[in-house]
Amino acid sequence: MTANPTTAPAALLVDGYDAALFDLDGVVYLGPIAVPHAAVGINALRRRGVRMGFVTNNAARPPAAVAEHLVELGISCTDSDVVTSAQAAARLLVDRFGSGAKVLMIGGAGVVEALQEAGLVGVRSADDNPAAVIQGWGKDLAWEHLNEAAIAIQRGAYWVATNTDTTRPTDRGIVPGNGAAVTAVRTAVDVDPEVAGKPYRPLMEETVHRLGARHPIFVGDRLDTDIAGAVTVGMDSLFVLSGAHGAAELLAAGDDCRPTHIGLHLGALLNPPREVSWLVNRVTCNTMAAVAAHGQIRLERKPADAEEAVDALWAVTQLVWQARDRRCLIDPSPAVELLTALP
Ligand SMILES: [Mg+2]
Repeated sequence: MTANPTTAPAALLVDGYDAALFDLDGVVYLGPIAVPHAAVGINALRRRGVRMGFVTNNAARPPAAVAEHLVELGISCTDSDVVTSAQAAARLLVDRFGSGAKVLMIGGAGVVEALQEAGLVGVRSADDNPAAVIQGWGKDLAWEHLNEAAIAIQRGAYWVATNTDTTRPTDRGIVPGNGAAVTAVRTAVDVDPEVAGKPYRPLMEETVHRLGARHPIFVGDRLDTDIAGAVTVGMDSLFVLSGAHGAAELLAAGDDCRPTHIGLHLGALLNPPREVSWLVNRVTCNTMAAVAAHGQIRLERKPADAEEAVDALWAVTQLVWQARDRRCLIDPSPAVELLTALP
């Protein structure tokens, strides 16, 4: 007698990891509003017992302010779930110089609080002989602050930038970010700063350390910071199409910023992972298939909805990346033109 055949439920993407780390803008919220499905998804993950961290390059706001914003959006969150680039920079400085070291502070409340929390002594003048300079974004930045930083660095102070994002999105348009102010200081000194934020290691490592995670997944909307940061520290990643980057950036990604998984939004963690299978020049992902022939990539049919469009994009992406790695020219536009259901 044989046992009845049983079908085990497909494992969810998140089941392969012991923690989920989220970038914020473009993944959890878009400025003041929540990304659709984000709050429901995060709360469902919380109920499953998934450990979570919210990871931001934004050094301006202290963790409590970020957590308050998340709670307003309906996401259950405490201050200690939030890790900022200012905290990662402060950790780096305390590891190097010990608590009680004097640090010249450039930036707002996020920087000031991170230094205090780490036991460092913030000063405002190069004449206070700081061991280091920490430079993060603050709304009251003035030339005199940049001058003090430049003078302290020329006198030998160690220079850490919270992040080097060159621009910052606002509801009125793109404005200069902390990276622009870092570049201004750089024109006057002969060294480069150590950078704490994504895509560099300190922020990613601080988050992993705090969560005690061994095999986390990073969820991000930018390939050049989030996914590149995950690649730098050897972490798996989920690239979501709810924010800054889309299909064009994914297809153009070099091997230093290729995600492990893709999804429409962070709710993809609660679906089975998208598996691909190859048969020579044909790649399938779920019910969608892409074929490379005669220098072009085509889909076998048009996706019926957004999830199928992501399946199709993932299949097309495999063919494009393989062609690029083999230095072959391939035109994905016949397939990409059918991905109209993507956000
Ligand atoms: Mg983002």
